[in-house]
Amino acid sequence: MTNDYPINEINKRINKCKQKSNNPTPPPTNDLETRITIPFFRGVSEKISRILRRHEFQVSYHPGTKVSAMVSTQKDKVDPQDREGIYKVNCSTCSKTYIGETGRSFKVRLKEHQAALRNAKPNSSALALHVIEGTDQDHIIDWDNSHLIDFESRYWNRKYKEAIYINKHKTNSLNLDAGLEINPIWKTTLE
Ligand SMILES: [Zn+2]
Repeated sequence: MTNDYPINEINKRINKCKQKSNNPTPPPTNDLETRITIPFFRGVSEKISRILRRHEFQVSYHPGTKVSAMVSTQKDKVDPQDREGIYKVNCSTCSKTYIGETGRSFKVRLKEHQAALRNAKPNSSALALHVIEGTDQDHIIDWDNSHLIDFESRYWNRKYKEAIYINKHKTNSLNLDAGLEINPIWKTTLE
């Protein structure tokens, strides 16, 4: 937070002001130079404004700076892998792609796929089924490179988008079905 604080800008203003006070020229009557607007950070801004006022600056605060700083920090803290949406998992043996959607954390959903495979439950995961039934060769799922390809919290949008992504990968898909049947009109709005 303090790194973002415009200390340099404030120091520049103070120095300018000092130079002026050493200078015999009279101060301008409507002195815009002595007005300064600083972002408000509780505990920091008050101290700085006290110093500035000592140097005869008129201090005002930027409204909303703190709020926007907080919002962006909160957003950055959310692990993208913990979000909901459409995800993609590849088989590293045959390069087939699985597309899925989840309204919960993607990380949690992925663990469910892994558990289905570990516990040999092909009915609860198409990925587990692919490995278990793929007797032609040892199919190895590339869990490490699996990821969300689209964030989507709205239920029907997720269903539509999932179907669109399955359709995009249909030549090399390991999905068991094509997902939601989509009216062609929707395809153009969601693609
Ligand atoms: Zn495979």
